[in-house]
Amino acid sequence: MRVLVTGGAGFIGSNFVHYLLDNHDDEVVTLDALTYAGSLDNLEGVLEDPRHEFVEGDVRDEDLVRDLVADVDAVVHFAAESHVDRSIEGAKPFVQTNVEGTQVLLDAAKDAGVERFLQISTDEVYGQILDGTFSEDDPLNPRNPYAATKASADLLAKSFETTHDLPVVITRTCNNFGPRQHSEKLIPKFIQRASEGKSLPVYGDGSNVREWIYVEDNCRALDVVLREGAVGEVYNIGSHAEKTNLEVTEAILEAVGADDDLIEFVEDRAGHDQRYALDTEKIGALGWEPTYSFEEGLQKTVDYYLE
Ligand code: NAD
Repeated sequence: MRVLVTGGAGFIGSNFVHYLLDNHDDEVVTLDALTYAGSLDNLEGVLEDPRHEFVEGDVRDEDLVRDLVADVDAVVHFAAESHVDRSIEGAKPFVQTNVEGTQVLLDAAKDAGVERFLQISTDEVYGQILDGTFSEDDPLNPRNPYAATKASADLLAKSFETTHDLPVVITRTCNNFGPRQHSEKLIPKFIQRASEGKSLPVYGDGSNVREWIYVEDNCRALDVVLREGAVGEVYNIGSHAEKTNLEVTEAILEAVGADDDLIEFVEDRAGHDQRYALDTEKIGALGWEPTYSFEEGLQKTVDYYLE
């Protein structure tokens, strides 16, 4: 299979490119605009691979996207503005890349007749849930601009399946962590700051709950859905490893060997969702389950960043 991976120089996208090339005979074309969030360092080891081609470019560049999509069997669409805090400061680049970029890709995929379009989405599109878990049929209720643009992209992708028979499959994953994540995100930022003896700014009282998945487990799940997911369906990908932000912070301090007094509670994020949690029965039926506990994944992640 020849796969176009958008956003493949970012965190999850680059891990997925490595995963595909390590585990399959696939050919991969990576399209990435190399924004502040993307880096060719993340593709070290595969840039010279004859089965891999890197193209620097924007997912909104219609001519470029049409050229690339014409030559592949499947599209896996990661490229996005991904940081909630930045979307609160300004939503425009989020609408441009996450909504308009998805539309450009969908149009090109429809015209080229690709065999599979995997839309990479997030648990944040469901909004917060105080008890229980979200299943794939629950209504979308995004509560921050990032999540709203991701929900828009999901709806657009689904509409192309219904209207144009484009073979779209959507995945919604919980918070990822692991190697190659940008240092603005909670876990790499806190590992770095803790190792330098700097304070760790925890939003509010640290009670917000997130479900954390080690990125390699997510990549394996995405690969299963790419090959075996049913067209038109949504698959939640979660670990059931729920942690408050304070618990994550304390676990990082322990793994790094730093003191609890580095914790500094700061003003809460505007509109901060209290809790996300996913029902994963549907992807479980495809034979997937996570293999890393939060603690195992965190130790590997700490070792990676400290090195
Ligand atoms: P990231 O910010 O690390 O990477 C995004 C990549 O997209 C970067 O390499 C960037 O250069 C590229 N990009 C941005 N705008 C582009 C454009 N206009 N054209 C081409 N490339 C562009 O993000 P991530 O954390 O790896 O997330 C990847 C995807 O997974 C996103 O769609 C995100 O919504 C989704 N997701 C992330 C998480 C998570 O915990 N990180 C959880 C669920 C879903």
